[in-house]
Amino acid sequence: MALDAFVRCTCIRDGKAKPHPFPDRLTFDESGDPMLTGDPTEDEWEAHDHWLAQSCEHEGFILSFFLGNITKVGNLRSFLRALQGSLGPRFPILLEKVLYDGTHTGDWLSSKASAALLKEVDTVLHSSDILAESEKEFFTNMKLLCEASIQTGNPIMF
Ligand SMILES: [Zn+2]
Repeated sequence: MALDAFVRCTCIRDGKAKPHPFPDRLTFDESGDPMLTGDPTEDEWEAHDHWLAQSCEHEGFILSFFLGNITKVGNLRSFLRALQGSLGPRFPILLEKVLYDGTHTGDWLSSKASAALLKEVDTVLHSSDILAESEKEFFTNMKLLCEASIQTGNPIMF
């Protein structure tokens, strides 16, 4: 039970991935996940998943990080609330979309939201002298995820 985050590479979209077993049925859902159209059978999904796992040198992802377990995410939330103090919501995306719980999966932030998130992360990193090592690691990883998302145009997925 923990929080992980990923950013997909662009190899499939750029035509650099290995040929798909059913290329005319390959599509992307709104989060950018490669999907099959039609009413795929279990065997077809299996062939698709098998392809996806070895579709390119990145195995589909340019970045993937373990962000923390429930305890660490809870601590980061408290840290950010204390940091924003009475000045109002300075970290709305971090608090409401990333750290709102320590186990969310299957949700995602668009690359546009990543640009706004990067500003929040940079604000925290400006206070790096008050960050503990594990906090610094978390916010540095978030920065890398934001930059990868902005660069690829792909969402940050959890
Ligand atoms: Zn790739």
